[in-house]
Amino acid sequence: MPLIILDRDGVINQDSDDFIKSPAEWQPIDGSLEAIARLNYAGYRVVVITNQSGVARGLLDVETLTRIHNKMRRMLAQAGGKIEAILFCPHGPDDDCDCRKPKSGNFDSLAKRLRINLDGVPAIGDSLRDIQAAKAAGAKPILVRTGKGEKTLAAGIPDGVPVYDNLTEAVSALLEVE
Ligand SMILES: [Mg+2]
Ligand SMILES: [Zn+2]
Repeated sequence: MPLIILDRDGVINQDSDDFIKSPAEWQPIDGSLEAIARLNYAGYRVVVITNQSGVARGLLDVETLTRIHNKMRRMLAQAGGKIEAILFCPHGPDDDCDCRKPKSGNFDSLAKRLRINLDGVPAIGDSLRDIQAAKAAGAKPILVRTGKGEKTLAAGIPDGVPVYDNLTEAVSALLEVE
């Protein structure tokens, strides 16, 4: 079964510079939940890998993060989609963990858990660190312009990384190629 890895903030839901701290602040980007459902329908397993430094910063606790993810899963289920796993990094930039993107720790644990390698597995994000983590794990980075995507693009990204307007367009391109 093919696998795809998604960043959360700015890819599935509206990003906020003030962090997403409550279920109410978690609002899907138009079309993103339907795009995930299309991936499922096409046989993809969908995994989310996300930095959530708001936890380390004391802005939300892990229980609240779980409630946010329950909302995401619930709304996604209503759209006919499903996320297989959510791997999050709760640490801050100074914690020197190996799971905060641009490091690939969460990608590597996923590969270990599923007993696969991530060569060529699409990984969609809106930030340079998503691209860097995907590359470090051997996955295939894809950038969307939603969230921080426009800024990321303006600052420059590595050659050869495909860019799409949003998750809907990225998924359409991916499924069309097959
Ligand atoms: Mg993001
Ligand atoms: Zn971490």
